[in-house]
Amino acid sequence: MPTPRMNLDAYQIDTEPFYLSTGQEIAIAEAAYHDGTPLLLKGPTGCGKTRFMQYLAWRLQRPLVTVSCHDDLSTSDLVGRYLIRSGEAVWTDGPLTMAVRAGAICYLDEIVEARKDTTVVIHPLADDRRQLPIEKRGELLTAPPEFMLAISYNPGYQSVLKDLKTSTRQRFVALSFDYPEPDKEVEIVCREGGLAPEMAKSLVKLAVMTRGLKDSGLVEGASTRLLILAGQLIGRGIEVKTACRAAISEALTDDRELLAALDEMVSSLF
Ligand code: ADP
Repeated sequence: MPTPRMNLDAYQIDTEPFYLSTGQEIAIAEAAYHDGTPLLLKGPTGCGKTRFMQYLAWRLQRPLVTVSCHDDLSTSDLVGRYLIRSGEAVWTDGPLTMAVRAGAICYLDEIVEARKDTTVVIHPLADDRRQLPIEKRGELLTAPPEFMLAISYNPGYQSVLKDLKTSTRQRFVALSFDYPEPDKEVEIVCREGGLAPEMAKSLVKLAVMTRGLKDSGLVEGASTRLLILAGQLIGRGIEVKTACRAAISEALTDDRELLAALDEMVSSLF
C-alpha cells in the first residue's frame, strides 16, 4: 500500500534565520541544490553548520529534517520500521524517508558517528540515481527534484578510522566551515548573545586564545556557540569570569592544568 506524503509544515522555516555568510557557501549550496547534488559540510562543532542549513532551507523554501547521528543509529532509525499498533504491524517512515517523500532537505548531522551499515543506505540517494531503497517494504523511492541530502562531519576530532569512506565523500559537493574571522564572530556574538561590542570582542579574543591551546592537549577551542552561551549568562547578570568558567572552560575540558591555563586567559582579558 503506498504511504501518503506526510505534511512537513512543522519542518518549514518561515522566518529568516540570522546567518552571516563567510564566503561563497550560499551560492555553491544553491547551485548544488538545483543540480540535485548532495552537500557535505565539514568543520568544528559550533561554527555555524546547522545555522547555515536552516538559512539555506529558508531560502529554498523547503522543510528541513535534521537527524543528529550517533553510534547506535540504525538504518531503521533513518528509513523507518513496522510498529505494532492495536495488534497490527503498521509501517512508519523514518526521518530520511519522510524527507525524500516530501521533497524536503534532510540534514544528517555528524554522519561519521553513525554505523557503517547505516551510512550505506545513503549511497544510492547521494549519486545520480537519487533513490532510497526501503528493503523491509520492498519499495524503491525516487527522490523528487526538491529533495536535498546534506551531511556534516568534524574532521578535527573524529578519528581517521571513522573518516568518511572515499566512495561516500566523492558523491558530495563539500563546503568547509570554520570559526568566522574575528570581526564577523564579534557581530554574531553581539547579536546572538545580546552583548555590547566591547564585551563580544573580548570573548572572541578569548576564543582565539583557547583555539591556540589545541597543541597543548585541548581537543577543540571555544566555539562560537560557547561564546554565545557565555554572553547569555553575562546578560543574565552572571559575573564575567564565572560565566566564562561555566560556559567555556568547564565545557572544554576536565583537565586541571588546562582549566588553570584557561582561567589565566580569562583573567588576562577581564
Ligand atoms: P554547528 O552546527 O557547526 O555545530 P551551529 O550552527 O549550531 O554549529 O552554530 C552555533 C551557534 O553559533 C548558532 O546557533 C548561531 O547562534 C551561531 N553562529 C555560528 N556561525 C554563525 C553564522 N555564520 N551566522 C549566524 N550565526 C552563527
